[in-house]
Amino acid sequence: MSTKDDQKPILTVQAEASSRSASSSTGLNPQTHLHHLSFWQRLGQSINLVGIGLFLRVLFGKHQWALPHVSVPSIAWLDWEALRRAGFEGCVFDKDNTLTEPYANEVAAQLLPSLRRCQQAFNGRLVLFSNSAGLAQFDPQGKQADALEVALGIPVLRHREKKPAGAAADLEAHFGCSSSKLIMIGDRYLTDVVYGNRHGMLTIRPTPLTTAGEPFAVRMARDVENFFVKRWRGQGNTAPTHPMARKPEALYSFVADNKIALW
Ligand SMILES: [Mg+2]
Repeated sequence: MSTKDDQKPILTVQAEASSRSASSSTGLNPQTHLHHLSFWQRLGQSINLVGIGLFLRVLFGKHQWALPHVSVPSIAWLDWEALRRAGFEGCVFDKDNTLTEPYANEVAAQLLPSLRRCQQAFNGRLVLFSNSAGLAQFDPQGKQADALEVALGIPVLRHREKKPAGAAADLEAHFGCSSSKLIMIGDRYLTDVVYGNRHGMLTIRPTPLTTAGEPFAVRMARDVENFFVKRWRGQGNTAPTHPMARKPEALYSFVADNKIALW
């Protein structure tokens, strides 16, 4: 028998998420952190005016934009082969707290095997879409982007607008396909998830790796996001229906072993 919960295309495993978060915060390696970001760059990363405007749109109607299709404790839980079989053609990754700890320039060790599986499944069709490296405003020469490409082994998208603003043209040009065939993976509801859903992408939200090292404004923004996302889900809102994953079962199949689909 189908219940209301069966219809919610959101996967969460909170206990596992918090234990992983705790262990990762203790494994912070200060040697890997980028210290050359100025105060203004960090502040700029924290305050996103266009993002605030889009937040108001989400707040006053487009609740669905903030809700990911799939939530997982980390990308290690994803079945990349299943996502590829479903017809998706490329993966767009946020950086901080999705692949790396905040401001770090190496992939968190516990995520490396999953990232390598992703690269195999998608034949290298991955890109990093950051609100710092590769953004013309903060990285006009692309030096951070160049350094990250070497450090992470993933191409870094050069772009002019911060998530959640901006069109998908740069991404579509990079991958040579419609944004609806791309997967957006990022930890922030109001940047990564809103951006992806605005452009018809499949949105996957991993729990942030750690809040250690994050600016105060980002932590506050997370609290605001979490409050509203919980409220909107409680009201029965779900992510926009994706044409390549219309049923909850399809979304479950994207999680490794299909067995951690706890509500
Ligand atoms: Mg992030």
